[in-house]
Amino acid sequence: FQRLKAGLSRTSSHLTGQIAALFTKRKLDEETLQDLEDLLIQADLGVETAMRVTDTLSAERYGKDVTGEDVTRIMAAEITKVLKPVAKPLELDLSHKPHVILVVGVNGTGKTTTIGKLAAKLSGAGLKVMVAAGDTFRAAAIEQLKIWADRTGSEFIGTKLGADAAGLAYEAFKQAQEKKSDILIIDTAGRLQNKTELMAELEKIVRVLGKLDPDAPHTVLQTLDATTGQNALQQVEIFRNVAGVNGLIMTKLDGTARGGILVAISAKHKLPVYFIGVGEGVDDLEPFEAEEFAEAIAG
Ligand code: GDP
Repeated sequence: FQRLKAGLSRTSSHLTGQIAALFTKRKLDEETLQDLEDLLIQADLGVETAMRVTDTLSAERYGKDVTGEDVTRIMAAEITKVLKPVAKPLELDLSHKPHVILVVGVNGTGKTTTIGKLAAKLSGAGLKVMVAAGDTFRAAAIEQLKIWADRTGSEFIGTKLGADAAGLAYEAFKQAQEKKSDILIIDTAGRLQNKTELMAELEKIVRVLGKLDPDAPHTVLQTLDATTGQNALQQVEIFRNVAGVNGLIMTKLDGTARGGILVAISAKHKLPVYFIGVGEGVDDLEPFEAEEFAEAIAG
């Protein structure tokens, strides 16, 4: 949480500073409310939440003096309302053997690193984990995943560069069944440059996994890079449609200038947010806490 706060405080001190400037010697009027709404939208919170903050503020203090603290208190409360329902612990149904976790997201958003961190948590909890290098397009992604597998004592399955990712996913599922792994985590490619191909590949992975178990993949996690701002909203739309994303992890909240977009995403998609990434190390994956996050954004 300290690292999250340090990262987000860059956003919030910026935002808090602007809010404070907005509310010096001003009574709350239409213009101030409009300026505040613009600020909140610029901070990526989304129009809906921004309006809720200004409506609540207006209902409480219209025509009266307002302090920056009034605003941040109301902001934190409104953001918490949005985030509370999506802040959920990741619960894996272990009656599936293995429980298949598919990890999707745009390249560079932290899929491989997050898989490594997750594998460490799960094997640390005594589960037998296998990871599959389904991003068959990038040698570095395969190598990185192998390093994470070794580091976390997980089984690793890969294939040669350029091989069919769905074929690998199928093979990984079969091997994980044979080896009685509890969890299979499958990495995937995220080349948005070629959207049609990417979609076809992800759809195929989901389809072949379903042949071995109609419920598989049981969990589909999407990683979002906090530093990408507004783009993340569109990324969720794309991957949710193609791969049936049913949970989110936001990475790079240790160094970001923006975390507000998670509020807009949560208001719109209402997908569970399981973890946040707060660094590159194995332990830098923390449960997502609505109130802490809201406070960190609001300042
Ligand atoms: P992928 O292409 O989606 O598999 O992304 P990677 O896992 O390779 O991550 C891309 C880069 O982001 C790497 O340099 C990671 O070390 C870094 N990274 C991933 N998660 C975090 C995080 O939570 N914080 C920071 N600071 N860096 C991260």
